[in-house]
Amino acid sequence: MKRLVLLGGGHAHLFVLEDLAHHPDENVEVSMVTPLPMLTYTGMLPGYVAGHYSLERCSIDLVRLAGKAHASFVQTLGVLINPDAKEVICADGTVLAYDVLSIDIGSRPAIAAKGVERNALVLRPLAKFVNGWMRLLAHAKDQGLGSVSVVGGGAGGVEIAFAIAHRLRRELDNHAPHVRVFSDSPQILPEFNEGVRQRAIHNAARYEIGLHAGSGVAEVGAGYVRLDNHLEFESGATLWAAGAGAPEIFAESGLATDEKGFLAIDENLQSTSHPGIFAAGDCASRVRNPLPKAGVFAVRAGPVLAANLRAALAGGPLTEFRTRRNYLALLSTGHKHAIGAYGPLGWEGNWAWNWKDRIDRRFVDRFTAT
Ligand SMILES: Cc1cc2nc3c(=O)[nH]c(=O)nc-3n(C[C@H](O)[C@H](O)[C@H](O)COP(=O)(O)OP(=O)(O)OC[C@H]3O[C@@H](n4cnc5c(N)ncnc54)[C@H](O)[C@@H]3O)c2cc1C
Repeated sequence: MKRLVLLGGGHAHLFVLEDLAHHPDENVEVSMVTPLPMLTYTGMLPGYVAGHYSLERCSIDLVRLAGKAHASFVQTLGVLINPDAKEVICADGTVLAYDVLSIDIGSRPAIAAKGVERNALVLRPLAKFVNGWMRLLAHAKDQGLGSVSVVGGGAGGVEIAFAIAHRLRRELDNHAPHVRVFSDSPQILPEFNEGVRQRAIHNAARYEIGLHAGSGVAEVGAGYVRLDNHLEFESGATLWAAGAGAPEIFAESGLATDEKGFLAIDENLQSTSHPGIFAAGDCASRVRNPLPKAGVFAVRAGPVLAANLRAALAGGPLTEFRTRRNYLALLSTGHKHAIGAYGPLGWEGNWAWNWKDRIDRRFVDRFTAT
């Protein structure tokens, strides 16, 4: 009997579980280790914050998927990997032996300022963010709120800022707080083309969202944000949505990493230091042709990961993960309207939001429908 351990209930592992459900192998014992029974689909998170979706609509039941894949579900965090003994050590004391280990644990927030853990609502882990957002919303409704700051001018931060501005206007009308975005890069949405940036700036004006590019945040305090240049802004609530940092588990376990600490993998999604270990999604970086940290690449890698885990268990040949760097991005702008981007192209409209809505619902339904 071979043992396959799936560490992390991320997007690529959804495809692995689906593959295992469709092609069960009685010679393989599968375990999934992940801290929460549900995966919140981040593509729909801004829609949840804006009030367009319930949390259930954006969630995928990992326990149910694991059951269909005949995998045991171990609800805890993996804290260390012993690659010599081929074991995963978990936060609850469980030790799982593996023949093949697959890792899809995402990233952790990249925090580069003082006071963030104490005074800011951090976007990850998502479950903690969702609880914090519900408290923030209740507080704003009960006691009012002067302003909200979002730190992070990438797609996630900008979409969340739009969603918050929309929701608070809907809930509080004229008493809605001012929303602003701080970004340390010279422009917001640095990963997109200029046309898309201009569309975002135009849409931000509709909600009077302040966009502060080139404004690195040095400190988040109780009720304020201080920039690198010592300028201080009053901030009733601050959200930290800046960047993706590497999970500590790789360096602590002695696995090869890139210079930022993400697991170093090759074209076959295999660890460059330990061939029995595979990984996909934000937690890993391909040594050659690294990809941006975006869910779309975890999703694209999923079927290849599933095939390679099967091959590694059976001793068969591995498949290269080949993918385009370009991807379709649809950024929601608060109300049911979105900006689209693909390479040098850009567009926007309510129809673009409907398109995004259809894509996102279809993705969640794929792993939710019986
Ligand atoms: C607001 C927002 C909107 C976004 N929108 C988009 C979008 O439209 N398109 C896009 O491509 N990207 C988007 N992204 C980026 C996207 O969320 C990530 O790139 C994506 O979630 C990465 O997927 P993953 O499978 O690598 O990890 P994750 O989705 O983060 O999943 C990791 C899983 O591992 C679990 N886990 C974590 N640590 C451990 C551990 N130590 N042991 C066991 N389990 C662990 C977690 O609980 C989770 O279940 C968005 C991000 C944000 C914040």
